[in-house]
Amino acid sequence: MFTATPYESDSRNYHFKRCKLCGAESASPKYRLKKTAVYVCPVCDFHYINYLDNLPPVVPDETLPELDHKSRSYIESCLPANELQHRTNLQLVKRQTPLSGKQCLDIGAGAGLFAHLLTESGALVQGIEPQAIFRAFAREKFGIELRGETVDADCWQQGFRDFFDLVTLWDVFEHVNFPAELLQQTGNLIKPGGLLVLDTPRRDALYYRISEWSYRLSKGANPLFLESLYSPLPFRHKQIFTLRQLIHLVERTGFTVSSMNSSLFQMHNKMVLVCRKPESSPSSPH
Ligand SMILES: [Zn+2]
Repeated sequence: MFTATPYESDSRNYHFKRCKLCGAESASPKYRLKKTAVYVCPVCDFHYINYLDNLPPVVPDETLPELDHKSRSYIESCLPANELQHRTNLQLVKRQTPLSGKQCLDIGAGAGLFAHLLTESGALVQGIEPQAIFRAFAREKFGIELRGETVDADCWQQGFRDFFDLVTLWDVFEHVNFPAELLQQTGNLIKPGGLLVLDTPRRDALYYRISEWSYRLSKGANPLFLESLYSPLPFRHKQIFTLRQLIHLVERTGFTVSSMNSSLFQMHNKMVLVCRKPESSPSSPH
C-alpha cells in the first residue's frame, strides 16, 4: 500500500492503449472528438483521452511572474463562484475533523482560496499549484506561498512523509496525467489515521450517458457534452471516473472510504469522497 510505481511520464512516449487505471494493454479509441479521442479500457471500462500535459518547469518563487491587469482581473472574476464552492467544501471538511492546529495540504490550490479559508480556520496550510500565475496571485491576494513542485517531487515524498492530517484534492483528479499514481504519492504524505478529501466529475451520471447514446445514434456526429467534458488543452479534463471506479481506486491504494456524496442526475455533477488512511498502514520504504 502507498507504494509509488514507476510510470511513463513523457506524453510523447506514452502508449494510450495502456489503461491509465488498471494497466491492461488493450484500450482503444471509442469516441473520436474534434480535437481528441476518448480511449476506453475493455477490462475496467476506464475512459481517458490521448493527451498528457507536459508540466512547466518549476519557477523559483523569487522569479514568479508579475501579475498583469488582465490576469488579475480574470482570476478575481472567478473568485466569487469559487468562494461559494470552497465554503461548502470547508463545511464538509469541518464536519470530518477540527482544523485548528492541523497540518493541511491543498493539492491543485489554484488561486489559493481554499488554502486561505483553511488558514482562517486555524489550520497550518501548504499548497501545491503548478501554474506560476496562480501562485503569484495567491501571494499577492492572500499572502500565501504555494509550491510549484508537484506531489511526486522529492521535496514532498522525502520531506513530508506521513506528515499531513488532511490533504484536499478539489477538482484535480480529472485534470492530472496519472490519477492512480497521484493518489499513491498523496497517500505517502498523509499521517496514519489522516484524511483525504476529493471531488471530481462523475461519469456514470445521466449527462454522460446521454452523450454516449447521442454519439452512437449519430455515428459520431453529435457527441453532446463529450466535446466539453474532455479537452487536449493544458490542465483540462483528461479522464472521468465512475463512482465505482473511484472507490475501487482509493481502496486499492489503501484508504477506507468514510463518506461519499453524489447524485446521478445533476449536470456536470461531482462526487465527493472522504477517505481515511488506516492507523495500521505504515508507508512502504522508498
Ligand atoms: Zn483498465
